[in-house]
Parts: sequence; C-alpha cells; structure tokens
Amino acid sequence: MRVAFLGLGIMGRPMAANLVKAGHEVSTWNRSSGKEVEGARAAASPGEAARGAEVVWLCVSDTEAVEQVLFGPEGAENALEPGAVVVDSSTISPSATLRFAERIRSKGGDYVDAPMTGSKIGAESGQLIFIVGGAEETVERLKPLFAAMGKLMVRVGETGKGQSAKLAMNLIIALTYEGFAEALTLATKLGVNMEKLLQLINASMVRSGVVEYKAPFVMKRDFTPNFPLRLMHKDINLMLEAAREMRIKLPALETVEEIYEIATDEGQADLDYAATLSLLEKWAGVEVKGTSA
Ligand code: NAP
Repeated sequence: MRVAFLGLGIMGRPMAANLVKAGHEVSTWNRSSGKEVEGARAAASPGEAARGAEVVWLCVSDTEAVEQVLFGPEGAENALEPGAVVVDSSTISPSATLRFAERIRSKGGDYVDAPMTGSKIGAESGQLIFIVGGAEETVERLKPLFAAMGKLMVRVGETGKGQSAKLAMNLIIALTYEGFAEALTLATKLGVNMEKLLQLINASMVRSGVVEYKAPFVMKRDFTPNFPLRLMHKDINLMLEAAREMRIKLPALETVEEIYEIATDEGQADLDYAATLSLLEKWAGVEVKGTSA
C-alpha cells in the first residue's frame, strides 16, 4: 500500500521502517530534520508526504501535534486523496479524536484511532499491540499494515474507543509502577534484600507485566527513556481530562500526577517514567539497590 508516515520519534521511526521492510511504498515526514527511514521517500511537509497516499499514519507526541500535522499550514488535510484513511497511533484525547475524525470525514476521508502498546522494543521488533477505534471495513483494509508493525490488533469499537481503552490501560501502568516504586522504597527503608523481594514478587500473584519489564532497568538504575516521563505525564493528564469530562474522580491518579509534576520540575521529563522512583528515594533518604546495581 502507499503509506505516508508522519512523526519519526522513538516509536514512529521503527514503525515506518517495518512498513518499508514489509514491501509498502512509504513516504515520511518529521518536524525536525535529520530523521529519515532507509527505503522511504522523505517529504518536506505533511501535505507533501500525504499526496498520493492511500493511508496517512501519524505517530506524534500529543493532541496539539496531531492537530498541527493534520490541519496546520501544509498539513495533511488538504492533500488527502479521496477515500484516504488517516490512522493516528499517537496517544491523544478521545474527545479531540472525534472532532478530528469528523473534519477528515467531511473531506471524504476516513479516520481510525490506533494507539499502541509495546514500547520502543515492541516497535523495533514489530511486536506492537494496536488498540483500535474505527469503522469495521476500514480497519479490515488496514490489516496488512497492522501486521507489518505489530503482533496483535484489537478493534475496540467505533472511532475514539481506541484512545479511550489506551488511556484506561496506561492508567493501570502508571499506578502499578508507582505501587512497585513505593514498595521498593519502603522495603529498602526496612532493610529488605531486593533480590529476595523480586523473587517473591515474581513467584506470587503480586507479579505483573509492568514489574517484569521495569525491574531489570530499575535494578541497573537505567532510566534512559523507553517511554519518556513527559509522555506518561501527558497521558495521565489526558486521563484526568477525560475523567473531568465524564464527571468522575480518580483520586489515586491525582496523587500520582503530583509526583510527575515534581519530577518534571526536577528535570526528569526526558528520562523514563521509571525515574519517578528517585523522588521517593530522595524523600525516604534511601537508594534501592539490586545485586547487579
Ligand atoms: P517521541 O520520541 O518524543 O517523538 C515524538 C514525535 O512527535 C517526534 O517525531 C516529534 O518531532 C513529533 N512532534 C512533537 N510535537 C510536534 C508538533 N507540534 N508537530 C509535529 N510533530 C511533532 O515520542 P514517541 O515515544 O515516539 O511517542 C509518540 C506517541 O506514541 C506519543 O503519543 C506516545 O504517548 C505514544 N506511545 C509511546 C510509547 C513509548 O514507549 N515511547 C508507547 C506507546 C505509545 P521532532 O522529532 O521534531 O521532535
């Protein structure tokens, strides 16, 4: 298929590379120069990339970025071919997604929200999981593209439902990691051996995918970004915004959001969100150490 891929960050670049590898005809665009994908045609604007494409795939930071790439000067909107599909793999606001989709449909295109999970490693290895909202027939047509970049695609429902489900899943990740980090901090203060604690966690119902994935990084104190703190913070704010729109309260998440705010003030925005542990350690006057640390 002819695909325009807009946004070549941690996730977008390997995703576009996997489309090329699968034999699709790919054009790319990135806001700042210097990011390219071998075998793809680099375009000077989102509009230029989108011209002639059957599918325009986005993977940018946030709601404002999606709006700019689609509807800003030289945005993709005015270059869309009749019947082209816009697919957004960024994690953004569900209500803004509905607005963007309406505008794209009024131009004769279609819109699918397809945020993903799987982190940098999943993007590089083509093992992402796509969480999808959109018309059934449109999603069906996109299957070869999902297969080139991921191991699973779940259509949750109509447009917007992908973003909604993704926020619910990231809420669990944010709270689970915070629980893990607080447990490590308390255990260290109480003098518990970390290796023994991790053995117990992994052997019991306490274990979780989040802990399994993050524990090795934490033990090595490697906070280089797989999922940058600033993006998890953005997602937490999207969850709280959606909660306000739905008039519900998420008290644990509100507290976690404050921790992310302080971490940001302390210059940790570009580290992995696992770095929030270091704030807890500072407040407790301890440092969590594994034998491999
Ligand atoms: P990233 O490495 O920070 O890349 C962000 C991309 O968005 C870059 O290409 C950046 O361009 C572009 N961008 C930012 N603001 C823009 C604007 N105003 N106009 C146009 N382009 C703009 O982020 P990422 O990790 O690839 O994440 C991308 C999306 O996937 C985010 O919504 C994130 O929440 C979601 N996600 C990430 C992960 C993960 O583990 N990293 C996992 C699942 C979902 P420049 O290069 O010019 O800065």
